[in-house]
Amino acid sequence: MALKFYNTMTRRKEEFQPLVPGKVGIYACGITAYDLCHIGHARSAIVFDVIVRYMRYRGLNVTFVKNFTDVDDKIIERARVEKCDIYAVSEKYIQTHDRDMDALGVERPTIAPRATENIDGMLRLITALFERGLAYAVPGGDVYFAVEKFPGYGKLSGRNLEDMQAGARIDVNEKKRHPMDFALWKASKEGEPAWDSPWGKGRPGWHIECSVMSQRYLGDTFDIHGGGEDLIFPHHENEIAQSEGATGKTFARYWIHNGFVRVNSEKMSKSLGNFATIQDMLQACHPEVLRLFVLQSHYRSPVDFSEESLREARLGMDRLYSTLQILEETLHKYGRAETAPREEALPERDLRVLENIQTLPERFVEAMDDDFNTARALGHLFDAVRVLNGYLAREQHTPGAVAVHVLTTSREILRRTGAVLGLLQEDPERYFDADRDREARKLELDVVEIENLVAERRRARDRQEWQRADEIRKLLLDKKIVLKDSPDRTTWKIA
Ligand SMILES: [Zn+2]
Repeated sequence: MALKFYNTMTRRKEEFQPLVPGKVGIYACGITAYDLCHIGHARSAIVFDVIVRYMRYRGLNVTFVKNFTDVDDKIIERARVEKCDIYAVSEKYIQTHDRDMDALGVERPTIAPRATENIDGMLRLITALFERGLAYAVPGGDVYFAVEKFPGYGKLSGRNLEDMQAGARIDVNEKKRHPMDFALWKASKEGEPAWDSPWGKGRPGWHIECSVMSQRYLGDTFDIHGGGEDLIFPHHENEIAQSEGATGKTFARYWIHNGFVRVNSEKMSKSLGNFATIQDMLQACHPEVLRLFVLQSHYRSPVDFSEESLREARLGMDRLYSTLQILEETLHKYGRAETAPREEALPERDLRVLENIQTLPERFVEAMDDDFNTARALGHLFDAVRVLNGYLAREQHTPGAVAVHVLTTSREILRRTGAVLGLLQEDPERYFDADRDREARKLELDVVEIENLVAERRRARDRQEWQRADEIRKLLLDKKIVLKDSPDRTTWKIA
């Protein structure tokens, strides 16, 4: 079996052949550090996190580079408003970014370089472009890339220069030779951050940093370049022009782009007020719920974020963790098995279930190998859970050591498979406690008051005061609180 995925450059699914067998270099464009991260950032981060996790699961040695843009018009503007320097702004938002990503369970990249730490490399790359006749400086100190001198311009986005020129608005900057020429270096205005350069004091254009940092950490030619599909043009097109223009070699061999996030069927924007930050969302749901929501769609499709979709994802995680919880309780009931039974000696009904669960990793890999089809992979995970539910619920299992063997093996497979998606990594008890507290907070319910009522009902039942017990149950149900009685305790959750 081979891993295949869609390459934006060739517009088809291709078998992945790393440059060096067993190793993969991936570069993904990171954030511009001037504001809080939102659901769009979360999606892209989760998608590439799962791609990296999956490649590691497949035994590949992955170097994952994701940059921080820490100098840019928006950062400069934010620093002006907040009356501080750009480093104070970028440092603050890099830290909140890292905290958000940790909370989402997104693993840190192998290397997270910052643009301002790579200015020397940018000056070298721009100099190389001058030597090849691909860059020009204009009076005032700006430096541009001459797109007409790079024959492959437009190959990633499937555009050609004539069409782009026809569609271009009359550019206010008459110094450019072609309307699609883009800035490699910008002369700094008064009060802006500035670095010395052969063209006067200035700062880098946006695109140059990714060409420099990918080359520095992954080489002239590397395996995979990724990002959101909004970056295909002009950002990634310009990265290709800069890098291939300077080295004469292929830049990235495969391009992976994730689709947009819409909020309530509309494009997300601050002006529409449908702008959800990661911090807001993590107040509203467990990070694994958010991951499940993202991974239920194929990474190249648009996803539509709404309260309803989040509610459905919560029910999905609830199903997965409920099974794990019952599994744990059953294991607890049977205690630890002294010795595992031989599998060929298992009763038929137990063996059937075990074999079903044992094929999960295979089915999972088949789905993921097909363009990282997480939706199908999740389908297999839910199927396995359904089989386990049958095994657990209808007492279809052989009590004792046999069940312990089937269940511990199943748990291990579920957790290991789930880990590739960053799911099922919590203890079920903790998951449900946190879920309950979160939902109670959202409904502005007082957890202590609920606990007191549950305890009072318990006492009423003990005294056989059924009417009072029933009253309390109804009272709680009105607040969407559902009780579950077991011989030794009563638990509650929010429907
Ligand atoms: Zn980039």
